[in-house]
Amino acid sequence: MRAVVFQEFGKRPEIREVPDPVPAPDGVVVKVEATGLCRSDWHGWMGHDSGIALPHVPGHELSGVIAAVGAGVTGWSAGDRVTVPFICACGRCAACSRGAQQVCERQEQPGFTHWGSFAEYVPVHHADTNLVALPDGMPYATAASLGCRFATAFRAVAGQGRVRPGEWVAVHGCGGVGLSAVMIAAAAGARVVAVDVSPGALELARTFGAEVALDASALPGGVPEAVHEATGGGAHLSLDALGAAVTCENSIRSLRSQGRHVQVGLLPSGAHVPMDRVVALELEILGSHGMAAHDYPAMMAMVASGALRPELLVTAEITLDAVPDALMALDTAPATGVTVITPNAAP
Ligand SMILES: [Zn+2]
Ligand SMILES: [Zn+2]
Repeated sequence: MRAVVFQEFGKRPEIREVPDPVPAPDGVVVKVEATGLCRSDWHGWMGHDSGIALPHVPGHELSGVIAAVGAGVTGWSAGDRVTVPFICACGRCAACSRGAQQVCERQEQPGFTHWGSFAEYVPVHHADTNLVALPDGMPYATAASLGCRFATAFRAVAGQGRVRPGEWVAVHGCGGVGLSAVMIAAAAGARVVAVDVSPGALELARTFGAEVALDASALPGGVPEAVHEATGGGAHLSLDALGAAVTCENSIRSLRSQGRHVQVGLLPSGAHVPMDRVVALELEILGSHGMAAHDYPAMMAMVASGALRPELLVTAEITLDAVPDALMALDTAPATGVTVITPNAAP
């Protein structure tokens, strides 16, 4: 099969013929019809993640058709249309046993812990735990856009964040996860304040249902004060969708009493949490990490009904041959929206 392979971190990836994958006894091989290009792939290529063995094939936001099935798989057949969460669980550890596959103790991530989906075929392990069926009529590009950023936002807003109609939700950072969170919160009947420094991102946030869009670079009084003013006392739920010390602290300070902060963005440089405020206002500080396959049906139903429209986030489709340039450009050319790769499309 053809795949995007890198031999060294930070060096140009190339398109290469590599052996076709074979399914593990409890796994499947998926013919990749669409796979999202994500900043995490760029970090992996740069060598920022431990655990990637070289040579390597990136790609973790995939959808496609099952091409081969291991002998121990009970629930799936060749020809089924599927996607997977970017965190693939073992199905047997203590976390998996209580239904929390998104924090599985032996979790794997295609494109990180093993070869991923920037290829014509990709293996998926523990298929009965991790595969999600695509509703009839859902395009592969839409499905590929769900697995990482959209599903993460869904669990952060609806799951960990427990959003309710009429509440004010502040979203700090309007990249892929943040814009998804804006759309999901608005669809849940919440009133959304979007915060970013990019006029383009704020414009998209308005399109996706934000009632208020705040340019953080033009608020001399500070972001939290502006959120308190816009919401008449502070947000009920606030998310740091970027993962920076300043957006984390702004999010917590944006809350009214007994509000919920959900940390979605990773915080590689650490955080400053105003604990005095957490205590005095009885704030809740929550983390959110992907979403288990068995939690997908509620999200899929809202997509199928048109209440959620993740396809609006897909702004470009490219072939496998265009991946090396697109991957290397991710750092300098931040895309608004999601780019989807179609490895099996006719050239
Ligand atoms: Zn991703
Ligand atoms: Zn597990």
